[in-house]
Amino acid sequence: MIDLIVNRTTIKIITWMTIHCSRQWWPPQDSVPAAASFLLFFTLSGLTLFHFISAIFEGPGYLVLKWMPDKVTDIQYLQYCIVCQGYKAPRSHHCRKCGRCVMKMDHHCPWINTCVGHCNQGHFTAFLASAVGGCCVSSVILISWVATVLSLKPLPFPPPAVYTLILVVFSIGLSIGVVLAVGMLLYFQLLAIVRNRTEIEDWILEKSRYRRDDTDAKYVHPYSKGWRFNVNQVLTWSCTPVGDGITWPIIDGCDQYTLTREQLAQKLDKRKRARRYRIIKATTGSKFPIGHGCGVFFHPLCTDEPRIKLDVDDIVVVTRWKKYWLFGEKEQKEGEDAKSKRVRGWLPRPCAVEVI
Ligand SMILES: [Zn+2]
Ligand SMILES: [Zn+2]
Repeated sequence: MIDLIVNRTTIKIITWMTIHCSRQWWPPQDSVPAAASFLLFFTLSGLTLFHFISAIFEGPGYLVLKWMPDKVTDIQYLQYCIVCQGYKAPRSHHCRKCGRCVMKMDHHCPWINTCVGHCNQGHFTAFLASAVGGCCVSSVILISWVATVLSLKPLPFPPPAVYTLILVVFSIGLSIGVVLAVGMLLYFQLLAIVRNRTEIEDWILEKSRYRRDDTDAKYVHPYSKGWRFNVNQVLTWSCTPVGDGITWPIIDGCDQYTLTREQLAQKLDKRKRARRYRIIKATTGSKFPIGHGCGVFFHPLCTDEPRIKLDVDDIVVVTRWKKYWLFGEKEQKEGEDAKSKRVRGWLPRPCAVEVI
């Protein structure tokens, strides 16, 4: 939320200062570059806003509730989503923040307050690209304005106050900052499109490399059919993606369920590695817990996954280990409704001991 407000403010300051500086050259009939950069800036600002709003209203594309594959026998290759009460189509994942299964989920983006997925990846990428482009142009306009003011030649506009000059220099800093930060995001988004691999699938591929299971053939990511093909799937002129978000074009030697079979195998693998822990000290679910030692306090996790609240003698099935933290799911006690909310997340490591 904080970075959302910071970002909006940043964009506003950059836009105001660019308009302010451009206006001083107005009417720009004497200067073609001034007119061109001004027009370009407004076109890119308009596009940024348009794609930003489109990415929100288009949405990532949610899988229908209680979704089932056409062939009932195919459910053996799919994971079930308890919340949506349906199977997860290939490339779909459940987003906790959206509360729905998202088709070709990439990540949940706090800027647009929804996921980036099958339906809005094109708009989202265009939004990033026009924001970077707009800030590049505004940097050029602002820098030339400062250069003109400091050039000691007679100015084509009234001399600015010192605070305006300071504000413009500050805006240049912000603008370059946005170019670098958003440019980085744009780079990763383009890489994901060129490889036809979402952030989540990167992670699945990464895990498949470490999964030592000699009985299985090596996992091959089935969706990348060459960069040109991959790009054309997402970046169309209307930003509307190709396909229905459920069946996907795949490479030879793979089928629609190559990815989901690997996911199931990884899940099974994880369950085999799981260890049971007993809670010996209650946890509060705080991100910066006090009273579990300096190690825990000074090593907070960089993740938005939940931290869970637990009582003494609760049993947790742990599947991930860090030096100061454990990730696991609370085991349901007898008599508890099996469908009641799953308690899953991180807990400080000193709070639990392994049950042997
Ligand atoms: Zn779901
Ligand atoms: Zn989401």
